[in-house]
Amino acid sequence: MRQMWALMLGAAIGMASPVQAQNQAPPEGFRIIGNIYWVGGEYGSYLITTPQGHILHDTGTAEMHDVIVSNVRKLGFDITDVKMIISSHAHFDHVQGHAAMKKLTGAQVIALGGDAAALEAGQDNSAGGFRGMVAVHVDRVIKDGDTISLGGVTLRALWVPGHTQGATVWRTTVSEGGRNYSVAFRGGETPNAGVQLIGNPRHPRVIEDTRMTLQRLKALEPPDLFLHNHRQSLGRPLNPALPVDRQCVTCMDGEAFTAMVAAAETSFAERVREAEAQQK
Ligand SMILES: [Zn+2]
Repeated sequence: MRQMWALMLGAAIGMASPVQAQNQAPPEGFRIIGNIYWVGGEYGSYLITTPQGHILHDTGTAEMHDVIVSNVRKLGFDITDVKMIISSHAHFDHVQGHAAMKKLTGAQVIALGGDAAALEAGQDNSAGGFRGMVAVHVDRVIKDGDTISLGGVTLRALWVPGHTQGATVWRTTVSEGGRNYSVAFRGGETPNAGVQLIGNPRHPRVIEDTRMTLQRLKALEPPDLFLHNHRQSLGRPLNPALPVDRQCVTCMDGEAFTAMVAAAETSFAERVREAEAQQK
């Protein structure tokens, strides 16, 4: 739910560029790096392949279902080999397709704490409380620091409950050209613009949780590759030492990750100050 707000804001203040970027057709499926493939549409969706089946990160909106299935097929993989479905955070634009994908593949749905509850209920429990969630059974509820493993691939969950209560940065290492690269999949940083920060009944601890999230992201060794779940514009080329397919519209390098976290911290502190000022 981040890009939509950016778009609304962009439209309101007459900024043309974000809208134009959004209107560009998303790339078809391609290999980003190592065993990680872009299979998304309007929003990110990633296939992490292994010899014993695959992991799908984010299913996007209901409309993205056919796009993902088609992208996986064109890449030469079998969608029914998807064994695990994980997510960045439980907002409809990233998990609405979980139920349909689980039905098609029989894959296990894996989610963390508050996001697992939101998926099971089909109700957004984040500060925003947005519509559009589709209920799906969560087969495995994980905790901060838990890992999932399949076919020699392991991903570790980092709990970042600012944007939603169970938002998760998934981290792994991939090999490309004889070198290892750390990869992190974006969870979310701060609550959506405009949501109630103080005394929010859905997420009473949203301010504390967001501060903890930002501390945790700042404490991370910046990943070589950060895979966002929305299209990004770095305003400069990606680090040329990073061997990723340049079609990647969601790829960020470590420097961009660090800058993103710093900007999120500054803007969130300002939002909290404004919310507190309104209380007085
Ligand atoms: Zn969101």
